[in-house]
Amino acid sequence: MHGWLHLAAACPRCSLRPDRGEPDHFVGGYVVNLGIAEFVAAALWAIMLVATWPNPSWELMQWIAVALVVATPLALYPFTRLVFLAIDLNFQPTRPGDFGTEDPTYK
Ligand SMILES: [Zn+2]
Repeated sequence: MHGWLHLAAACPRCSLRPDRGEPDHFVGGYVVNLGIAEFVAAALWAIMLVATWPNPSWELMQWIAVALVVATPLALYPFTRLVFLAIDLNFQPTRPGDFGTEDPTYK
């Protein structure tokens, strides 16, 4: 990683670039991030609800829900981008242009 919101240009071990140079890469990463992050937020909220049952503070739970739906996509962003890369590699195996630190060749 190179900063929280910017992945490294390429893997230091195998030089695979996380951005394969396709225009839909960002959208795919965004969709995977939203799905995983909001599921995690809902699961954490449900755990807190069960832990405080039968007397949860609904106002506090409301603010916690807001914080979770904003914070989890940011917290999980680099990981979910790599999850999308793994999904993408499952459907489109690596090509020679996927390696190295130069600009993507498949634009
Ligand atoms: Zn690697």
